[in-house]
Amino acid sequence: MYSVELRGVTKRYPGGGAEPVVALDDVDFAVEPGEFVAVVGPSGSGKSTLLNVLGLLDDPTEGWRLLDGTDVTELTVAERTAARKESIGFVFQDFHLLPTLTAVENVALPTAFDPGDASDRAADLLGRFGLGDRLDHEPSELSGGQKQRVAIARALINEPAVLLADEPTGNLDTETGESILAEFERVKTEGVAVVAVTHDPLVEEFADRVVELTDGVLIGGVPAESDATDGPQSDRDAESALTPGDR
Ligand code: ADP
Ligand code: MG
Repeated sequence: MYSVELRGVTKRYPGGGAEPVVALDDVDFAVEPGEFVAVVGPSGSGKSTLLNVLGLLDDPTEGWRLLDGTDVTELTVAERTAARKESIGFVFQDFHLLPTLTAVENVALPTAFDPGDASDRAADLLGRFGLGDRLDHEPSELSGGQKQRVAIARALINEPAVLLADEPTGNLDTETGESILAEFERVKTEGVAVVAVTHDPLVEEFADRVVELTDGVLIGGVPAESDATDGPQSDRDAESALTPGDR
């Protein structure tokens, strides 16, 4: 079963003029546990929209979305929020760190652990990212690359099934970028599905699969070996994936 899956997903934004913007155009996408997918494409092609829809931060206009085989549209708002917090780690392009919290507090923020345990786990993760000596610094006292690593540590603290990252090495020197990619490799071995939007050839090199968006159309979205198909078959596949007993 896929960690997260989109079938026939279209996302339209109301345009300023008469025509809506088609940010995603009938997209089929799937990522397996332990798979690392790089998403490439020119600016405005729909990459961030794809990540937002995968991360349950935005809803498709049309199509199905399955998280761990569960049809997301069948969840209540509360269930969706819980599923998002439990299963998805999100690294935003501009970090979204809280300015008045220290590095360790930012990383510990999304956890449901008691504060002491959360701090220990956060400090451990930050140490792995080479930030052991920056635990009590606020974001304004950190470089771009350091903030990026805090954001990635925060995305990993709940041991998500899916890690979504918008340009995860965008602000980093090569060596730091490689340490982030090594961390992605490690979480992959634990079965985490990683999806990263990137312009970085190094990320493409590390990825198991590179998919390309052009004007909202996605090429190579579904693993080649999969039974997922386009056309008449896909309705039946989607239905069986929706059967609760199927899990
Ligand atoms: P990328 O990340 O590849 O640069 P985006 O997913 O951000 O592309 O945007 C895809 C298209 O959707 C663009 O034309 C963009 O202007 C449009 N778009 C994105 N978000 C919104 C929004 N909230 N409202 C209206 N249009 C949007
Ligand atoms: Mg973007």
